[in-house]
Amino acid sequence: MSYISTRGGGAPMGFTQAAMTGLAEDGGLLVPVSLPDVSGRLGEWGELSYPDLALEVMGLFSDLERSDLEGLVRRSYGTFRHPEVTPVVEVGRVRILELFHGPTLAFKDVALQFLCNLFELVLGREGGHLNILGATSGDTGSAAIHGAKGRERIRIFIMHPHGRVSPLQERQMTTVLDENVFNLSVHGTFDDCQRIMKTLFEDVEFKSGYSLGAINSVNWARVLAQIVYYFYAGLRTLKETGAEAVQFSVPTGNFGDVLAGYYAKKMGLPVRTLMVATNENDILARFFQTGVYAKGEVVPTISPSMDIQVASNFERYLFDRVGQDSGVLRDLMARFGRTGSCSLGPEHGGDRLFYAGVGTTKDTLEVIGRYHREYGYLLDPHTAVGVHVAEQALSEDVPTICLATAHPAKFGDAIKDATGEDLARHEVLERLRDLPTRSVEMPADLDAVRDYVKAHGVE
Ligand SMILES: *Cc1c(COP(=O)(O)O)cnc(C)c1O
Repeated sequence: MSYISTRGGGAPMGFTQAAMTGLAEDGGLLVPVSLPDVSGRLGEWGELSYPDLALEVMGLFSDLERSDLEGLVRRSYGTFRHPEVTPVVEVGRVRILELFHGPTLAFKDVALQFLCNLFELVLGREGGHLNILGATSGDTGSAAIHGAKGRERIRIFIMHPHGRVSPLQERQMTTVLDENVFNLSVHGTFDDCQRIMKTLFEDVEFKSGYSLGAINSVNWARVLAQIVYYFYAGLRTLKETGAEAVQFSVPTGNFGDVLAGYYAKKMGLPVRTLMVATNENDILARFFQTGVYAKGEVVPTISPSMDIQVASNFERYLFDRVGQDSGVLRDLMARFGRTGSCSLGPEHGGDRLFYAGVGTTKDTLEVIGRYHREYGYLLDPHTAVGVHVAEQALSEDVPTICLATAHPAKFGDAIKDATGEDLARHEVLERLRDLPTRSVEMPADLDAVRDYVKAHGVE
């Protein structure tokens, strides 16, 4: 399988190179040139364990030896606390796909455990080192740190805004004391951190001199790892219910997670509807309702990992909507960059696969409270947004699978507000309380961060 940029630049490349590259050089996103049709294999795939299924799905997209890929998969999902890796449980009228059994209790572990193992494999084979640089407002940073910690050929530098991430999420990062992990507590906002990161990646000399690596959600290997659980949950549900199709509700921020579901459908998984569930930051919901993709102001909510107004993976979907015409896509993205808005014309049709909806803070708290009272099940606020939207579009004959993207204990305050009780606990998080931490404070200054990476990274 080879990969090309959505913007049409550069030569096609293989899977390993695509994963090491992240963002294409022309600023586009890397996409597979074609998608395999797996509809003839679904019966057989429905019987497989999670790692065996991952091996089959990923094998279709990768240029690794099967034994190497198998090693990666086993190492990546051996760290999950549930024997099924991503189990599906029936709760009331929906099914919950629990994606939070990884090391940091968020769905990002599914992709970042795999990506970091892949980096290590490639670096070990080709020699060299990687200095990963990232900015986080919470979940991504800790999942990346737990993926990269202790690896010989990787150093990881994660910036977070000082005093502005939840104390629990901060501890998930700063209690990791491995020598290759550097937590930079930046005196500024998340946007400052992100701006510093982008500017450093644009510094070509620094980027190549210090082998800067990115772990952000546009990396194809992350999307690929997420395709697996759509097949896993979808095929299990079809088998159990005898239904002809399923639908998924996906709490959405950067459009990475739901994009994986879109690819699973295109490969032949019988998916009737993909529900794009957002909080008040509803740029994507508005797009699917009106065809206009227009940026608004970011509002902070109780589902902070979805407080996003520019969905970095959306370009891959738009590429398909404009008939994979890179010229049209470049124009759209240029207009969006200039004006903060772009829209599809009637010639690009609609897409009845998607249903979009919004769950407000009020809706989120209501759903959490009700699921706790009626079913004794705790939803984290991100998952609750998805469940709220799913409830608007339940179907008698098509089972609804709601993706649970974080363990409720990560967002204990929201659970307390919704239920009146402090119920959400997890031993992994309890243990963090008394552990020593390490981080360095730093001004929101480009040179300060660059100098720090130069001093502690591998040249
Ligand atoms: C990152 C994240 C999301 C959003 O996922 P995208 O791939 O960015 O759409 C939802 N919920 C949680 C808990 C997350 O960490």
